[in-house]
Amino acid sequence: MPSTPASNPPASGAVDLFTLLRDGVPRSRAELAAATGLSRATIGGRVDALLAAGLIAPAGAPESAGGRPSFRFGINPEAGVVGAIDVGATHLAVGLVDLTAHLVASATEPVPLAEDPAETLALAARLLEDLLRRHGMPSERLLAIGLGLPGPVDSRTGRPVNPPIMPGWNGVDVAALLREHLDVPVLVDNDVTLMALGERSAAWPDVDDMIVVKVATGIGSGLILGGRVHRGARGIAGDIGHAPLASPESVRCRCGNLDCLEAHAGWPAIIRQLGRAEITTGEHVLELVQSGDSEAIQHIRQAGREIGEVLTTVVQLVNPAVIVLAGSMTAAGEHVLAGVREAVYQRSAPLATDELRIVASTLGAQVALIGGGMLALEAALAPERVAAMIG
Ligand SMILES: [Zn+2]
Repeated sequence: MPSTPASNPPASGAVDLFTLLRDGVPRSRAELAAATGLSRATIGGRVDALLAAGLIAPAGAPESAGGRPSFRFGINPEAGVVGAIDVGATHLAVGLVDLTAHLVASATEPVPLAEDPAETLALAARLLEDLLRRHGMPSERLLAIGLGLPGPVDSRTGRPVNPPIMPGWNGVDVAALLREHLDVPVLVDNDVTLMALGERSAAWPDVDDMIVVKVATGIGSGLILGGRVHRGARGIAGDIGHAPLASPESVRCRCGNLDCLEAHAGWPAIIRQLGRAEITTGEHVLELVQSGDSEAIQHIRQAGREIGEVLTTVVQLVNPAVIVLAGSMTAAGEHVLAGVREAVYQRSAPLATDELRIVASTLGAQVALIGGGMLALEAALAPERVAAMIG
């Protein structure tokens, strides 16, 4: 047969095949042909191009059904990784995420949120380089980094805007500072948005409309709408911690306004309501809850109701299929969940709650790292970059 363009495919066909294999399921040439409807010859050419670029590799032993042995191909684990950084109020977590979106290594350093972003980012870079070394991955295989910050991030500039718990970071070009140490694309986003990306990827891949609510010192949410993360016009979408709450008792929020949800239902509010000198942190409250302290349980449940009250509006507005509660207060188990459910199911229209599931995250602290990896993968594996790798 004469050589046709199909047997010497343009890079875009190989990029599509690579995208297909990113679900982590290895496939043979025959299975790839069946999945795409393309001819064996076309698939063969594209598989060869991806093999030559080192982007895919044979996965497992060849299968032989009487004829020629046939390999399955999957994403080459050596092809590269992306980095994830989660800057928290009291910790710095870093992770490596492979090209099929699995967290393959992580480390956490307990550091108080430094006033000096340069120092914090230098430490994050060192921790990531350390992980790469321990994972046996040369640093030139680091393709991109996704970084989450606990505060508003302008989605146009990637810079934090008046973050209440990290004033020294206001307007800082975080990506540029990190690139002084690791020269790869750096994507910066709000940490709860990353949690939403991570939660969906790892736990709810088939759900297109969901909300992840982080409940800890602060309260915020990340939205997945129509299968895509929703940031809004400037990146502040989902910032429900500063939504107003109707309350008989007036409380000033750290943002300056009165009666924000966070001022009534975050850890500092519960600590204040308990009014016991020895109870000064969220961990202390959790210990009380675990010991069955009925007053602590009451306050947690009430916080759940208040969060649910604000979520009722969100449910009416965007009709999610799943609400996932995450953050340290979810360690209080059913109590916070019960409060949220009570308020949302009581106040929402039947059609909105008919198939609505309200659950606690099972992914723990790793979820923001998985989300950071997802954000980095979007940049690292953008079609034009994969095409460039194929050459
Ligand atoms: Zn506020």
